Amino acid sequence: MAESPEKPLLQVLLCSPRGFCAGVVRAIESVERALAIHGAPVYVRHEIVHNRYVVDSLRQKGAIFVEELDEVPDDGQPVIFSAHGVPRTVPAEAGRRNLFALDATCPLVTKVHREAEIHYRRGREIVLIGHSGHPEVVGTMGQLPAGSITLVETPEDVDRFVPRDVHNLAYVTQTTLSVQDTLGMVERLKGRFPEIVGPHKEDICYATTNRQEAVRRVAPVVDAMVVVGAPNSSNSQRLKEVAEKSGCPFAVLVQRAADIDWARFENVTRLGVTAGASAPEVLVEEVLDAFARRYALSVETVSAATEDMFFPLPRPLRDQAAE
Ligand code: SF4
Repeated sequence: MAESPEKPLLQVLLCSPRGFCAGVVRAIESVERALAIHGAPVYVRHEIVHNRYVVDSLRQKGAIFVEELDEVPDDGQPVIFSAHGVPRTVPAEAGRRNLFALDATCPLVTKVHREAEIHYRRGREIVLIGHSGHPEVVGTMGQLPAGSITLVETPEDVDRFVPRDVHNLAYVTQTTLSVQDTLGMVERLKGRFPEIVGPHKEDICYATTNRQEAVRRVAPVVDAMVVVGAPNSSNSQRLKEVAEKSGCPFAVLVQRAADIDWARFENVTRLGVTAGASAPEVLVEEVLDAFARRYALSVETVSAATEDMFFPLPRPLRDQAAE
């Protein structure tokens, strides 16, 4: 009997922390708890977190995903707002229609909303560093009247920005940006407008910062990096970019093992693996299993930080669970 050829060796450096953050855990648990208390259906405005696997699992349990509140019937069932946050018009509309709304906005996104509000009340014109069209940016801009916040996406946008009063400016940022790129944007803003006021500590959240730091450590010593995450997940996209900018020859974003283009990994002997904040660990395991079928793996974890962040569920769900 012919012996099966030996598998090539592959050393995997597994980034830590990776995957779910406290805001994502809270958002998913909010939907699950609402389903347990109220039964199906539970409506969810927008993908609760940017991950198809998570969304499909919740859909199977009875969640119905909608893009806007006008798709939610007046049947008394809860409607949950996603972790990314919503413009003020959304809770206002829910209130007007007397919908049973639950807000799963990540507390770290809410913190940015409050910062923007305070700047506005102090009469400051606000610059938001972020990506146009991302639901978090739509939500943050929608906290204040139109025209109060100017979005800047690139250094060129910063150069083009013409404020009403250079002495009365503030900035806030999206929570899931590249730490390094954002530092550059903030420096540029401060260079043009030395009096601009910003957060004491940047708005980029702990989860984004830690996942990028782990990638920065692994990227220079591997031949390739696999980021498990969705193409519409901002923090997953940033992990891919950070890997490439930190010296990794190529980085790919995959949602599932089935997305892997194996030809690209033929000559890889050291591989970095991480996952965006909305990607469940089960998908990381699926990807590692797929590599293990083709390679003899040795797996080592590279840790950049220890996380113990926890956010309690929205109050109505906590109160109802207690009852
Ligand atoms: Fe909150 Fe950061 Fe997670 Fe977004 S990535 S949900 S801001 S902890």
